[in-house]
Amino acid sequence: MNKCCINCFYDKYLKNFIEESGQIGDCDYCGSINIACIDINKIALILEPLLSLYSPIEEFVSSEEMKNGQYMENGYFHEFTFLWEELLYNWELFDDPLIDANKVETLIEDIVWELGLNEQILQSFVMVESDYYGEGKFTSEIMRDYWDEFCNDIKFDNRFFVSAEIQKELLNPLHQIFPYITIYPESKEIFYRARIQRDKDKIKIEDMGIPQIEYRRPGRANPFPIGYLYLASNELTAITEVRPDISEIVTVGKFILNKSLPILDISHIKPPFDWGWDIRIYYKYVRFLLFLGNELSKPLAPYQEAIEYIPTQFLCGFIKSEGIKGIKYRSHRGPGNNYVFFSEESFKYNELKTYKIESIEYKFSEQK
Ligand SMILES: [Zn+2]
Repeated sequence: MNKCCINCFYDKYLKNFIEESGQIGDCDYCGSINIACIDINKIALILEPLLSLYSPIEEFVSSEEMKNGQYMENGYFHEFTFLWEELLYNWELFDDPLIDANKVETLIEDIVWELGLNEQILQSFVMVESDYYGEGKFTSEIMRDYWDEFCNDIKFDNRFFVSAEIQKELLNPLHQIFPYITIYPESKEIFYRARIQRDKDKIKIEDMGIPQIEYRRPGRANPFPIGYLYLASNELTAITEVRPDISEIVTVGKFILNKSLPILDISHIKPPFDWGWDIRIYYKYVRFLLFLGNELSKPLAPYQEAIEYIPTQFLCGFIKSEGIKGIKYRSHRGPGNNYVFFSEESFKYNELKTYKIESIEYKFSEQK
């Protein structure tokens, strides 16, 4: 049986798989020698869900489009493509040695043969059928438009009411995606929270949790006066998130989770092969999830916060109402991730440390 190797692929998941499950040998495709290789049938099984996204165009396009060799998408004409071209140009799967050896097409042919798929998929042009009807990857763009509409609406028009259209086109699809991006931090996982010391008195351990109601302020996730627990994955991120000035004293508390909880992870989106047969969900929503991850973590100047946080506050309320206990999102200020938990009851907090801020690094760009 033919073997492919780690040099054939650019995709990290495939590279790791070959590294871990393969054996040293010579590659039949890119020509690398004495390298981690794997039998082509094992790679075929990983690629099968991705290949299943594509169908021969004869199954759905009009005969006129077939004759012209192109179709209309979002107001533009597109040429029809073969399966190997789709995989080469749209998925960042293959690396230069394989592409330079001109063997992508051969590799895909062998994979289709190994999987016992109908060879029509090689002889015809292919497409993701749902894209043809404007429902596949365009779903993300449609949701993004509705997100903009929702933000505008909730900030300036209807604070406590969401239109039926936004419910249908934005919140319902989001609700369907939640199970795919839910993670369960393990019991005993450690998180950090920082507070700036405002006077001579040291901050006590009992003051490190959700603030008392009179001290609460609205945040990225919580409207005033609801209290959520904002944590970070490491001390530096926790400190940078509270924006201390030079010479200020910052107290950092350690929070230990005492039971596993479901939370949404929008800090990163799993790469395509981690989705297995759910790759259709990935294909449809990945662009919106990346956008949402950015929206939920983007840094704001203090004067913008009161208004700009309203959409994310609403969204967090929606997520909470679904029984999810928190959200993990990227920190733009620090090197780690941020978390918001809707309650502090599953945490034990101990071990305070006090730090003095010695320096702050600013980066800036000229605004014209
Ligand atoms: Zn190779």
